[in-house]
Amino acid sequence: MTANIAIDDLPIRDELRGKTPYGAPQLDVPVQLNTNENPYELPEPLVRRIAERVADAARTLNRYPDRDAVELRTELAAYLTRTAGHPVTRENVWAANGSNEVIQQLLQTFGGPGRTAMGFEPSYSMHALISRGTGTGWISGPRRDDFTIDVAAARQAIAENAPDVVFITSPNNPTGTAVEAETALALYEAAQAAKPSLVVVDEAYVEFSHRESLLPLIEGRPNLVVSRTMSKAFGAAGLRLGYLAAHPAVVDAVQLVRLPYHLSAVTQATALAALEHTDTLLGYVEQLKAERDRLVDELRAIGYEVTESDANFVQFGRFEDSHTAWQKILDQGVLVRDNGVPGWLRVTAGTPDENDAFLEAVRALKKEQH
Ligand code: PMP
Repeated sequence: MTANIAIDDLPIRDELRGKTPYGAPQLDVPVQLNTNENPYELPEPLVRRIAERVADAARTLNRYPDRDAVELRTELAAYLTRTAGHPVTRENVWAANGSNEVIQQLLQTFGGPGRTAMGFEPSYSMHALISRGTGTGWISGPRRDDFTIDVAAARQAIAENAPDVVFITSPNNPTGTAVEAETALALYEAAQAAKPSLVVVDEAYVEFSHRESLLPLIEGRPNLVVSRTMSKAFGAAGLRLGYLAAHPAVVDAVQLVRLPYHLSAVTQATALAALEHTDTLLGYVEQLKAERDRLVDELRAIGYEVTESDANFVQFGRFEDSHTAWQKILDQGVLVRDNGVPGWLRVTAGTPDENDAFLEAVRALKKEQH
């Protein structure tokens, strides 16, 4: 084997040359508050229920799984109907391996070579990365200095670029800011006026929000999709289960690109077990919201600037050099996230003890800076 062959020595696609993969550091430190995971392990009764349902699924693993994930989509629709203020059925819902795969399927269907997608940055970096991976051109739209969306500037950017796909992330990652329904509607109208295009409202963190879901906006708007995940509120990042709600025609459209049997029988069984325990899991969400609010208050009391948060994380600053600050917090055993937003870092709300450890670390950092 020749050792020194690098990616760029391979005949890879030109647009992938010199690029880096998504890579939140997975470091083995005592307090890990960097990837917006839920800090609570699944409750034992749910772990036992998963074991039962997976055992049932194992008995028929010689067969391919339900390709249309009918039972799972029915239960996801029931969850949305109960919590998001708008009735949906399984015809409105589609599921995949994490909302990243949902987004990939949407971009494969509505983006692709010769087409473009737009998001308002800073935002979730995978929107741009999955666009690139699907051959979709990426356009970076603007935000205000306080990280909210300036409707007039956003409409202008949409009108000028006429993108095929528009991402609205609410609450936004990494800033935590939510989008008002009127803003989402204004962007939807602008996107439809420029050319019929798909608007994807990424609600990965919506269960942590002070505001209502934007799901009711799908009514009468076939080009509007809401994407969701079980990675955050359901505390099941390891499960890899994301889903969308939209007009049934959108669900039909993504069938054109989904791999056959993409969602394993084990995944479907596990997700169904978790959905049986929705109320317990949403109880953890309430605790995390209270901890998020405590982080905001205490960070401000220490003297940091904090971006208003509707998510399970908080963006705080400002630092002259955020990477050095990140390292100093890490030196105290606490891993937060440097998303590359100049002057800012992001911390995920953990357990009360983890949050105390984080607050102690940033208190020490503040003293050092004075
Ligand atoms: N959307 C947003 C805004 C996110 O922050 C994340 C995860 N960090 C995802 C989607 C993807 O989550 P998953 O693939 O685990 O569902």
